[in-house]
Amino acid sequence: MAVKKVLQYGEKTLREPSKEVHKVSRKIQELVQDLLDTMYAKNGVGLAAPQIGVNYRVFVVDVSANDEPLNPIVFINPKIIKKSGAIVAQEGCISFPEAYTDVKRYKNVMVKALDRNGKLFVMEAKDGSLLARAIQHENDHLDGILFIDHCVNRFETDNILAKYNLPPVEADKLLSEPEIEKELEN
Ligand code: ZN
Repeated sequence: MAVKKVLQYGEKTLREPSKEVHKVSRKIQELVQDLLDTMYAKNGVGLAAPQIGVNYRVFVVDVSANDEPLNPIVFINPKIIKKSGAIVAQEGCISFPEAYTDVKRYKNVMVKALDRNGKLFVMEAKDGSLLARAIQHENDHLDGILFIDHCVNRFETDNILAKYNLPPVEADKLLSEPEIEKELEN
């Protein structure tokens, strides 16, 4: 019901793991609406609760094109239950205004979650689609993981971050992703 302030890279809350939602209460439904309002206000394709300072396992995405009707998808307590393939693609984040860098992602994911009414659903996103990557990006936020932790080139990413006056990559947060790297070599 409101556009919230989006926390920027460097703020501690973005690194904190989020709690499971025990009940899709009115409070959680208001959180969902705030996430949607804020995502649309910032022209984002996804937004996770910790980005507006709420450490609950909730995120929203909308990968519809500008000339298509809105298609918000709400994920509560999401779990990625299958992942395969690998892709490198450029990503950004509303918590890192204007900074984009190449990151490693799985090409295909299957996720299960509750929708905004508390109903369980399973969704598959394939072929390194925007949806597949957005699900991985937003799901990471719930564990305090940021897209730059998946970056292909740390030094290049540091240069990009510096250009936008953002703190450098945190070396201890960089992820080792042997499964994805092996796939990328093929
Ligand atoms: Zn993000």
